[in-house]
Amino acid sequence: MYDVDGNRYIDCCMAFGPLILGHAHPYVVEQIREQLEAGWNFGAPTEAEVRLAKKVCGHFPSIEMLRFVNSGTEATMHAIRLARGATGRRKIVKATGAYHGAHDAVLVRAGSGGTTFGVPSSAGVLEATAKHTLTVPFNDANAMRKVIAANRRDLAAVILEPVMGNAGPILPADGYLQEVREITEANEVLLIFDEVITGFRLAMGGAQELFGVRADLTTLGKILGGGVPIGAFGGSKELMEHLAPLGKVYQAGTASGNPLAMTAGLATLDVLKRTGLGGVNRLGDWMRRGLADAAAEFGFRVQGLASMFQLFLTSRPVRSYEDALACDAKAFHRLFLALLDEGVYLPPSQFETCFLSTAHTAKDVDATLEAFAKCLADVR
Ligand SMILES: *Cc1c(COP(=O)(O)O)cnc(C)c1O
Repeated sequence: MYDVDGNRYIDCCMAFGPLILGHAHPYVVEQIREQLEAGWNFGAPTEAEVRLAKKVCGHFPSIEMLRFVNSGTEATMHAIRLARGATGRRKIVKATGAYHGAHDAVLVRAGSGGTTFGVPSSAGVLEATAKHTLTVPFNDANAMRKVIAANRRDLAAVILEPVMGNAGPILPADGYLQEVREITEANEVLLIFDEVITGFRLAMGGAQELFGVRADLTTLGKILGGGVPIGAFGGSKELMEHLAPLGKVYQAGTASGNPLAMTAGLATLDVLKRTGLGGVNRLGDWMRRGLADAAAEFGFRVQGLASMFQLFLTSRPVRSYEDALACDAKAFHRLFLALLDEGVYLPPSQFETCFLSTAHTAKDVDATLEAFAKCLADVR
């Protein structure tokens, strides 16, 4: 990536996740160009939309029907409305520090920019809305059990990032996702997996494939559109048929399913299917190992999975948002600036995840590790 002054950077932000093939992959460019010349919005379903939908259903067995939208924010907003409409209940549960986009129901103790800028619970969200969003720490099955038991009659859904990505990467403890699945099922509460980051990154079938746990509703975005605005939500036919015109839950969007986003998504998934995730995941392993070596003398933590990684400026394992908040976020910001000077561009916050793409090479990883080693001493 180059800035206006012509400085060159190794990009480990990758637009916060969507660009798993790197910037301007030639095949994606060619496919978008072809579509552009044929038209970019018809206000009606197109062949590309049907093909991408079939692909998503093929990779995610829990999705029989889906709707395309224009962002991850829209995907979770509509999934939550659908869960409420289908169950006739009002409350939802989310994890503290989880980020599900920037709409009212989920800007309650939210991660990502909300935490970076000190507004995890946003002003402007009505108390009447926020009070229906309950929060529990990630990786605490007992807290989940308790909040569900106490609220089950009015609880529509639990929404989770199966691997948290918006407070830095936080992995689910062994058995945690399975336990949440069991508790929600036993209490007839819907489980929504927000796979906007993890879908097509951890595996083509996302965290559900990797961990073998199926959600009732799944939200997707980011990689699904290859960096062009997109989102999707889907689940069983029975649940999705609560949407109008078949059901009574309304959802719509002028640009939803537009051919440009569909084409970019199809092209991205085609390339990804051909190249596989093995190579980029091995680069991820290498990055985490090298970073852990460089960070060892400072006692810092390195976490991640597949092509996700982050250096946490703390010596303790980060298993929840609460653990992440104990990190030295100010020192991380200094590290971010120092790395920029060394030609490495990270997401600008401790509470984000760094991403690798299939365009990164072993040389890029080595250069990034070298830059980290140089900068770490100074931020201490
Ligand atoms: C990025 C993200 C969203 C929001 O997607 P946008 O396209 O930015 O609206 C929702 N959930 C998760 C887990 C995300 O990482």
